[in-house]
Amino acid sequence: MAEPSEFDFIIVGQGLAGTLLSHFLLLEDQHVAVIDYPHPGRTSSIAAGLINPVTGRRIAKSWRFEELFLFAKQTYHELEVMLEANLWADRQIARALHNNFEVNEWLRRSSFAEFQDYLFDEPDMSQFEGKLHPPHAWGELRGVAQVALPVLIEKWQGHLSDKGMFILDNVDYQQIEPTDGGVRYKGLQASNLVFCEGAKAVSNPFFNHLPFVPTKGELMLIRIPELEFERILKHNIFIIPMEAGLYWAGATSRYEFDGPLPSEYGRDFLVSELEKTLAVPFEIIEHLAGIRPTVADVRPFLGLHPDFPCMSIFNGLGTKGALMGPFFAKQMANYLLGKGKLDEEVEIGRVGNVEQKGHNFTKPA
Ligand SMILES: Cc1cc2nc3c(=O)[nH]c(=O)nc-3n(C[C@H](O)[C@H](O)[C@H](O)COP(=O)(O)OP(=O)(O)OC[C@H]3O[C@@H](n4cnc5c(N)ncnc54)[C@H](O)[C@@H]3O)c2cc1C
Repeated sequence: MAEPSEFDFIIVGQGLAGTLLSHFLLLEDQHVAVIDYPHPGRTSSIAAGLINPVTGRRIAKSWRFEELFLFAKQTYHELEVMLEANLWADRQIARALHNNFEVNEWLRRSSFAEFQDYLFDEPDMSQFEGKLHPPHAWGELRGVAQVALPVLIEKWQGHLSDKGMFILDNVDYQQIEPTDGGVRYKGLQASNLVFCEGAKAVSNPFFNHLPFVPTKGELMLIRIPELEFERILKHNIFIIPMEAGLYWAGATSRYEFDGPLPSEYGRDFLVSELEKTLAVPFEIIEHLAGIRPTVADVRPFLGLHPDFPCMSIFNGLGTKGALMGPFFAKQMANYLLGKGKLDEEVEIGRVGNVEQKGHNFTKPA
């Protein structure tokens, strides 16, 4: 029998989590094998990649925003140089305010020090005159960024392939064997195997005790022949200018769904929201769907398996992978190399504190 190929780490899944973790491990001179299979429902290759300082109707500040943002910006800039790709773009969002309550809340919050760099009122919307159904009012959100996640995933896969570190395979959990010195999978041997399979983690027999609450997201790529703009619009859904005259329009967010493929529900919802926003015709180019690896307490999952410490997980990036991914990938890499601890808020040992809400769970905080 052939000797197994020796690696320091095997990573299962090359979405954003597996990409960033393998990047930080390679920076530490680790020998890494990244295994990925493009399952329907994977998210990084369809996500908008927005990094948003405030989210939701409640205009809440994103958790640890400044710290995570600075680290994310630095990481994506380093990857831009390494991969010779444009990954990062500073953006602004024109956000619809639907009633007096939302306007007052926007103005009230914009006077607080922690929101002063982000919330502005009365943006110039004259270019949209007659082309959008005007909402009650508009606010402007600055300090936003957009990361070209699909480009990053594709370029990183090429980079790994050039180093002989990428393997195309649908990992069969039954063939993963803990050994004395680590873990073996088919002809590969490593000291640790890290699962980064996104929402597919719910079928991972080693970590399916973790309370993932996956949410399906659907979007459309559209053309708007009578309108051309660079600013991101957020009415009820986002309309985001992309390359080649295309706009990314989405997304839905559902906890109950039949499967990973685009649905009639998604199509009807998106068309209806687009019709409420645009007063000019639009053309649907593509309808796509993915399943976000969301967690009930809206924090990532990092840690070693309680019984098999040769296996670990880096997942749960939820709706904020672009922002949280770099910081926690670096933290996970340091932890695996014995160079640092995991924050309690993201360590999987906390699951005793997370209420498993299953199908009754309506929306993360
Ligand atoms: C419509 C939509 C819009 C979004 N917009 C944003 C946004 O604007 N900003 C933001 O920050 N986040 C956004 N997200 C969320 C973002 O996509 C996620 O946070 C992030 O991409 C998750 O990355 P991941 O690597 O954990 O999972 P994934 O990207 O799903 O990657 C997991 C990979 O593992 C592979 N895999 C799984 N099981 C196996 C196996 N057994 N063997 C081999 N390979 C396997 C999968 O096929 C996949 O390639 C959005 C998500 C959706 C659906």
